[in-house]
Amino acid sequence: MGKVYLVGAGPGDPELLTVKAVKLLARAGIVFHDSLVSREILGLITRDAEVIDVGKRSGQKLLTQDEINSLLVSAAANHDVVIRLKGGDPLIFGRAGEEIEALHNAGVEFEVVPGITAALGAAAAAGISLTDRRAASQIVFSTFSRRTEGAPMDFSAITSTTTLVLYMPGPDYAEVAHRLREGGLSDDLPCVIVSNATGAEQQIRWTNVAKLAREEKLPAPALMIVGRVASRKVQEISESFWRGDPDDRHAPRPAVS
Ligand code: SAH
Repeated sequence: MGKVYLVGAGPGDPELLTVKAVKLLARAGIVFHDSLVSREILGLITRDAEVIDVGKRSGQKLLTQDEINSLLVSAAANHDVVIRLKGGDPLIFGRAGEEIEALHNAGVEFEVVPGITAALGAAAAAGISLTDRRAASQIVFSTFSRRTEGAPMDFSAITSTTTLVLYMPGPDYAEVAHRLREGGLSDDLPCVIVSNATGAEQQIRWTNVAKLAREEKLPAPALMIVGRVASRKVQEISESFWRGDPDDRHAPRPAVS
């Protein structure tokens, strides 16, 4: 009986993988990945491994969560190293809870290998200190996505010193802006949209709650950082530096404002 590793692939840049993740990809027997994982990262998987895309395409799931759970359990009977590779961190909006439960129920050994979640990749890309002590005392990672089961976002947790990171905001910015205002967020509160954080196609747009509805859409995957930590000063500093990656694999890319 093999072991299943739930591995975080980070936000995009392969250099942001953990050493542990890279070593595991090199000795995997089988890898189940979702659609957020970049081609470059898939390229680090040993040629000997079977690679299966269990992600979603054009809104349609290729496989149900139950099917993925069963695949993980049966793969462990045939391979020493089974990898479930997920974008960002496996434990943030990644359905890892259901997979862990299925593995536990089936008596399959597992381990979680954390990754850099998109919120942290986006904050780094934009140069935003999420807990800047002059403006914030807490961070909330949330989503309005209807795909998320459970209670809707709890706005009572949002205060004037909260940094809100909104995953899966979707393409309807007007709807997002409407919900933020309904939740009591002020019109002039900064809102930063980060698309493809840390990847070659990274784009950053600085706006605010009032202007969000009219912003041009950025490509998925994208998230929003909302809060006073994204001040005008932070924007100015952010826009003054270029973000090429250290080893120049991609051309330097300027921030988009
Ligand atoms: N487990 C992942 C999140 C999965 S939910 C993590 O920890 O990052 C998918 C959402 O994550 C996307 O809709 C988007 O909001 C966000 N996301 C993932 N990668 C991103 C990236 N490179 N840049 C911006 N947002 C990203």
